[in-house]
Formats: sequence, C-alpha cells, structure tokens
Amino acid sequence: MMLSVLASGAVGAGTPAWAMLAYLAAGVLFILALRGLSSPQTSRAGNRYGMIGMLIAVVTTLVTHDVATLPEIGIAMFLGGVIGVTVARKIAMTAMPELVAGFHSLVGLAAVVVGLAAWLDPASFGITDSAGQILTVSRIELGLGIAIGAITFSGSVIAFLKLSGRMSGNPILLPMRHFINLGTLLAILGMIAAYAVSGAAGAGEGQLIIWITVAAFIIGFLLIIPIGGADMPVVVSMLNSYSGWAAAAMGFTLGNTAMIITGALVGSSGAILSYIMCKAMNRSFISVIAGGFGADDSGSGDGEPREQRPYKQGSAADAAFMLEQAENVIIIPGYGMAVAQAQHALREMCDLLEEKGVSVKFAIHPVAGRMPGHMNVLLAEASVDYDKVFELEDINSEFAQADVAFIIGANDVVNPAAKTDKSSPIYGMPVFDVDKAKQVFFIKRSMGGVGYAGVDNDVFYMDQTMMLLSDAKKMVEEIVKSID
Ligand code: NDP
Repeated sequence: MMLSVLASGAVGAGTPAWAMLAYLAAGVLFILALRGLSSPQTSRAGNRYGMIGMLIAVVTTLVTHDVATLPEIGIAMFLGGVIGVTVARKIAMTAMPELVAGFHSLVGLAAVVVGLAAWLDPASFGITDSAGQILTVSRIELGLGIAIGAITFSGSVIAFLKLSGRMSGNPILLPMRHFINLGTLLAILGMIAAYAVSGAAGAGEGQLIIWITVAAFIIGFLLIIPIGGADMPVVVSMLNSYSGWAAAAMGFTLGNTAMIITGALVGSSGAILSYIMCKAMNRSFISVIAGGFGADDSGSGDGEPREQRPYKQGSAADAAFMLEQAENVIIIPGYGMAVAQAQHALREMCDLLEEKGVSVKFAIHPVAGRMPGHMNVLLAEASVDYDKVFELEDINSEFAQADVAFIIGANDVVNPAAKTDKSSPIYGMPVFDVDKAKQVFFIKRSMGGVGYAGVDNDVFYMDQTMMLLSDAKKMVEEIVKSID
C-alpha cells in the first residue's frame, strides 16, 4: 500500500510522498537533536542531527516549492544569510540573550506576514473551497497563526529592549493589568471564532483580521512589560516556545509538514524549559505566562542609594595562598565570568590546585549568566570536566563542608536576600548557601556594581568574605601566577 502511494508520487494535499518521507526523516532527526542536547556529553552529536535534519527539510522545501519561485527564494536566502552572518560575527557572547530575543521577534513577524499573505491571496496557498472561499479550518489556523505571531513579535521586542538595557529591566505594573490582559485575550479568541464562522469575504472580515493583529500586538507587549528582574530567563525561554508555536501555525497555512513538526518541537521544548526554569526559581509557571500574575508592586533595588558598609579586600597573592591550603573549593561562576571571558584562566587555576591535591567543584545556578546553559557552555569551551560541574540542588548542601566558596562574576545567584527579604525582586529564588563556607572569595570589578536584579548583597560584608576587586580574568591570571 505504502509502495503504491510512493509510486503514485503523491500523498495528501499535493505534497509528493517522497517529500513526506523526507519531512518525516527530518522530524526524527530533530527529535534526536533535542535528545542529544539534553546532556553536555551528547550535545555536539545532537547539534549535528539537527543540522542534517534542517538540511533535508530545506532542500525538500526548495524542490517542492509552490508559493515562490526559486530565484525569489534564492534572493531572500542570500539577503537573510548575509545579514545573519554579519550579526552573528559581530555579536558579543554576553549579548546573546538579546540577539535570541531579536530573532524570536522575526519568527513572530514572519508568521504574521505569512498569515496576512494567505488571507490576501488564499488561492495561491491552496486554502480555498470550490467557491473560492477560505476553508473554515484554514481560517482558524490563519487567525491563530497571526495572533501567536503578533504576540511573539511584540513580546520579543520588549524582551530585546529590556535585555539590552535600552529599557529598564524592572517590572512595569499597570493598574488592572490582569483584567486588561484577560479581556484582550478573550477578545482575540472571540474575533478568531467570528472570523472562522464568517462566510463570504468582505470589509467586515478584513476588519476582523486587522483587529486580531492589533490586539495580539498589544497583548504581547502587555504580557512582557510586568516581568522583570530575575524572571527574565523565563521570558527568554517562554518566547522561544511562542516562536515555535508561531512557526507551527505558519506550517499549517503553508501546508509544510516539516514546519509543523519543527514548530511543535520548539514550542513544546520551550514550554518544558520555561516550566523547569520556573521550578528552579520557585516561581509559578501560570503567573509568568499570564504576564507576572500575582507579582506585587515592590520594585527592585535599582537606583536605591546603597549604604557604605565595611568590607575586607584582598589580593591575588592572599587568595592563592589560602586556596593552596584548602582541601575543597567550590567555584560559583556568573555573568561576570562571561563578560571577562575568564573561563580558560579559571580552568588553569583548577588544574594547578588539583595538582596540589585540592578538590575543586563547580556550582551552576539555573539562571547564572544571561541565557539558559550559559555557564555550562563556557566551561565546556574551556574543557572543564563535566563530572566536576554540579547543579544547584546537587551541591548546595556541600557548602557547609567547603573551605572556600570562590565566587567569580556571580551576584544574584549567591544573594541571601532571596531567602530573607520579602521585598526583594529575587525573593523566593533558591540561591547558593555560600555563607556556610569557611571562607568566601568574591571577584567583581568594584563595590559599586550590582547584579542583574540591582540589589545589594550581604555576602560582600560577611566576616569570612574577602573581596577581590578586579576584572575576573585579570584576577584569576594573577592567582595562577601566584600559585606557580
Ligand atoms: P549578576 O548579573 O547577578 O552579577 C554579575 C556580577 O558580575 C556583578 O556583580 C558584576 O559586578 C560582575 N562583573 C561584571 N563584569 C565583570 C568582570 N569583567 N569581571 C569581574 N566581575 C564582573 O549575575 P549572576 O550570574 O549571578 O545572575 C544572573 C542574573 O541574570 C539573574 O538575576 C538572572 O535572573 C538574570 N538573567 C539570567 C538569564 C539567563 O537566562 N540565565 C537571562 C536574563 C537575565 P561589577 O559590575 O562590580 O564587576
């Protein structure tokens, strides 16, 4: 049966059988890619599966194209490719989160444009009945595609502005925001339903599509502005999920199976990642997707004058001496390690300490840095053994036995205000118990700087803390020289 379908060359709505099989193979490779990416040891293989799957999907789409001509597709790919390569070469590693948010906004915008194009010229998309009217099911797909795309676009633009510092990272809490959000979402769903059941095309139908688009742009904006401070990582993964659903919706409109599969995989894996991040940060998943539902009006510490408190400052030589005397050291890397690109020097320091019989472990917080997995990527780049790298819940109990907690460019993830200060924007987020270690070394550039959430950190002023004020790479290189 299968063979006769293949021989006839066609399955379903005009897609050749071989193309369906190729899309299926691409889909299986994408699933293998996700499986591979779930662990640092298999992530390179996972990336390779994903790249092969994408190649199969792109070539199949090019061969079976029916919406645009090959020269048109070629020109678009060339222009997009040149822009993509230029941006990727220029971007600093520390600016990756805003780049990712920027790219998500483009996926959302593409879904809106595809939806509008299908609405304006449904016949060329093959979504009309014998009377030339758009099929009801296609109307639902089109309405949902435009709505999800527009929400992804405006939400990602706000995330981009917040992450790049062009807009304050603090939550913006409008009065009655829950009612406004709920009302707008219900209005969008109502308009999609009205559009789906509306009969012949006409001015009313056009207005519905335009209002769905406008309302979805507004709700994307409203859902992201109340989220801020330490909750931004969840926003990044949530928008990743939305961009997947937008791509899946586009796949329905274009009748492209590979896009539906890929979009659904991105959408669901992004949703799972958001859920995991919410759990790791002790936040309610529903609260975050509903636009900071339940967030109170206590702002972040940003801009508040900080009182001068006494602290101890040390040098690289002091730190090297104490590290050599230690039996076990736990290193907590954060965003500052990424800024300084200190991971290679840090690995050199660990190698030297281990040669001297010191046990060294790395403690990674789920939101350390500025993107999920940021620290793991940098440590892997510096060839740090995976078996020395531990997640928060696996290592937090070990601080009580640690001789040294070595904090390098981390701040929010070790801030005890998350445990004690209900008015703090990071309250409730689990943090490393560095205060339980016998000695704490804290590398940062100055006492003036605060972490992403903008709040002072009591760890700076503890009796057992020695502040190492310098660029992280420079400080670690000096420690390495002193150990030698
Ligand atoms: P933080 O942003 O809390 O702290 C970074 C620290 O690094 C600061 O103390 C800063 O102090 C120091 N620093 C910066 N540059 C250097 C440098 N060159 N050398 C030495 N120190 C430096 O980082 P954490 O990793 O602890 O926490 C991550 C925060 O980012 C969390 O609030 C998280 O919610 C948020 N976030 C995370 C995302 C993710 O996906 N992981 C995405 C978006 C936000 P100083 O300026 O004085 O040097």
